Amino acid sequence: MRGQVTGVRQGGGGGRRRWRERRARHRAVGRTPGAPTAGRRATATCQLTLLLMPDVAIVGAGPVGSALALALAGAGIDVVALDARARGATLRGDRSLALSHGARLIFERLSVWAPLAATPGAVTPIVRVDVSQAGGFGTAMLDAGDVGLPALGYVVSYLALQAALDAALERAGVDVRYGVSVERVDADPGRALVRQAGDATAIEARLAVVADGTGAGLAGIERARHDYGQVAVIGKVATARPHGGLAYERFTPDGPIALLPEGEHYGFVWTLEPRRAQEVLALPDDAFVACFASHFGRRRSDFLRAWGRKSFPLVMEFARPPVAARIVAIGNASQTLHPVAGQGFNVGLRDAWELKRVIAGTPREAIGARAMLDDYVARRRSDRWAGVAFTHGLVHLFGTDLPFVRWPRGIGLAMLDAVPPIKRTFTRAMLFGA
Ligand SMILES: Cc1cc2nc3c(=O)[nH]c(=O)nc-3n(C[C@H](O)[C@H](O)[C@H](O)COP(=O)(O)OP(=O)(O)OC[C@H]3O[C@@H](n4cnc5c(N)ncnc54)[C@H](O)[C@@H]3O)c2cc1C
Repeated sequence: MRGQVTGVRQGGGGGRRRWRERRARHRAVGRTPGAPTAGRRATATCQLTLLLMPDVAIVGAGPVGSALALALAGAGIDVVALDARARGATLRGDRSLALSHGARLIFERLSVWAPLAATPGAVTPIVRVDVSQAGGFGTAMLDAGDVGLPALGYVVSYLALQAALDAALERAGVDVRYGVSVERVDADPGRALVRQAGDATAIEARLAVVADGTGAGLAGIERARHDYGQVAVIGKVATARPHGGLAYERFTPDGPIALLPEGEHYGFVWTLEPRRAQEVLALPDDAFVACFASHFGRRRSDFLRAWGRKSFPLVMEFARPPVAARIVAIGNASQTLHPVAGQGFNVGLRDAWELKRVIAGTPREAIGARAMLDDYVARRRSDRWAGVAFTHGLVHLFGTDLPFVRWPRGIGLAMLDAVPPIKRTFTRAMLFGA
C-alpha cells in the first residue's frame, strides 16, 4: 500500500472516505491466518504507522490554516488541523481584513464565500480607492468600474470569516482538534513530528504545515526580521455621509492612513512614530476625531466619532525559505507584512492555495519530500517577494514625509491616475497580487 503511486488526485471530498478504507484494509490484513514472525510484526507495525499517519498535519486553524485544510480535504488528502483556540473562539475578533478579488475567488472555490457574504455586516465591497497626500499635489482614484468588476476588494470581519471557515470545516468532516496547543514542530527523515504542550506523544504526518501566525516553535526555518520603528494605531470611525464603498489611502506628515469601509462605518490603520502614536492614543475621543479629520483636509471632513483605538508595533518577518525537512510555513508564519498595503492575509491565502495544488499533484509517498518542498518554494518565490516589495515600497516612499519625497510621490500619483496602463497594472496587483 505504501508503494502505491496515486498520481494527481481527484477532487471531491473523499479524504475521510479514503482514510476509512485504508484503516479497514489494515484491519483485514490483521485478520489473515498465520501469525507473523517478530520481524514481520515489526515491519507490519512500521507499515501500519505509515498507513495511519495523516498526509498533512496543520498547526493553526486560523483563516490561512483553515483554508488549506478545506482545500486539501476537497482534494482527497488526509489532513488533521490543530488549534490552540477553543471551538468557536477566534484569536483576532476585533480585526478586519482587506481581501483582494483573487481571495474572493479562492473562497468561492472553497464554498465559503456565499455563507460569508450572507452574514449581515460581514463583507463590505470596496468600490473605489482615493489615494492622496496631505500638503502635496497628485491624487489617484482607482475604480472597480474601470476593470469591469463589482468591487476592487472586500473588507471582511476576521470573526465572521473564521466562523464561516469553521462551519465549512465541520460540514466537510475535516478532523480539526481545538484546544490543542503545539509546542514544537520538527522532523526525522521519514515524518514530521508535531509536539503538543505537556504531551510526550507527537502527532506524526508526512508533512507538517505551520500556520500559527508567528512560526514560534518551528525547527529549522530562519526568519529575517525588520523593525520599522513604527506603530499601527487601529480603530473605527463613523461619518455623517454613507461611505458608498469608497476607501482612502492618505499620506500625511504623521504617517499613512488606510481608511476602509466596514459595515456602516470606517475602519482605519494609521502608521505613526511610537511617540506620536502614544499622543494620538491618549487623546480624548472628540480631540482624536478633530486631529484625524485635520489630516484629511478637504478630501473628507464629516467624521463624527471614533472608537476601539489600539496599537501594534510594526515589524516585517520573512522566512527564508519557508520550508525545512518535512515542514512548510504559510500565512503569517511565513511572512508577516506591514498592514499599510493590506497584503498580509492575501499573500498567506495564496500560500495555502498553491500548497494545496503542489500537494495534490504529488504522489502520496512523496508528500513532504525534498522535491515537493522545492517545488512549493519555487512556485511561491515571486509572489512572496512581490508582497514584501510592494509593502516595503509603500512604507518607504509614502510612509515618509520629507519634502523631497513629496514631489516624486505627487508625480507618481498623477501618473497613476492619468496613465491607463500604469493604473491597470496597479489595480491588477491589488486585485490578484503579483
Ligand atoms: C493591525 C493589523 C491589520 C491588518 N490588516 C490586514 C488587512 O487589511 N488585510 C490583510 O490581508 N491582512 C491584514 N493583516 C494581517 C492579517 O491579520 C494576517 O495576515 C492574518 O491574520 C494571518 O492569518 P494566519 O491564519 O496566518 O494567522 P492568524 O490569524 O494569526 O491565526 C493563527 C491561528 O493559529 C493558532 N495558533 C497559534 N499558536 C498556536 C499553537 N502554538 N498551537 C496551535 N495553534 C496555534 C491561533 O489560535 C490562530 O487560530 C493585518 C494585521 C494587523 C496587525
